Amino acid sequence: MSCNEHRIDGTAEETTAERIVIAARQLVANGMNRGSSGNISIRRERTDDIPDGFFITPSGIDPDRMAPDAICTMRMTGENENDGKPSSEWRIHRDIYAARPDVHAIVHTHSPFATTLACMQLEVPPFHYMIAVTGDNTIPCAPYALFGSQELSDTVLATLGERYACLMAHHGMIALGHSLEHAMAIAIEVESLCEQYWRILQTGHIKLLSVEQMTQVHEKFKDYFRK
Ligand code: 13P
Ligand code: ZN
Repeated sequence: MSCNEHRIDGTAEETTAERIVIAARQLVANGMNRGSSGNISIRRERTDDIPDGFFITPSGIDPDRMAPDAICTMRMTGENENDGKPSSEWRIHRDIYAARPDVHAIVHTHSPFATTLACMQLEVPPFHYMIAVTGDNTIPCAPYALFGSQELSDTVLATLGERYACLMAHHGMIALGHSLEHAMAIAIEVESLCEQYWRILQTGHIKLLSVEQMTQVHEKFKDYFRK
């Protein structure tokens, strides 16, 4: 089964491929990506007939020119079931789905403020309570590796740990979610936090929340987000 066969008959519900294209266009509209920068995927669950894998944006295509039938269907082996070239970062997406059963969608952006901090190789500390949406008290920055390389996938996976986001040195950021909507919300929040932290850095007046204060936020988020 391909991602274009997921439409529920008789409803206006989008196919998985359409949802990915809509999300990719939203990232451009929000200033989170420009041109063909970034990529998005959604996990494909295993059934009796189909192996597990993921649906992912094609490589080097501007979302405005991206038709739903260009979305690639990848197996965990790295085999593409469709024609066309999958995102050069398919290894990152594949390796995260393999390591993190809680993750069902992934959003990678070159958004301006996250990328600025990533180019400074900075970790974002707990200057604001919303850092906790990423599942930890900091947003770390994965060491630099060439885009599309297995080395980049390895460093991103190691840096993420159990988190839902990290920066990627001299590159951008990655956000994970239980759903596409969750991954998009994390990506937008991380960009917003990076913008705020960048502004704070201009003042040199950096005040951080304590571990205890962040622990209280993580507790409160259990009812706030994970219903
Ligand atoms: P793709 O178009 O191959 O997904 O590349 C964009 C990108 O962001 C690479 O890191
Ligand atoms: Zn990238």
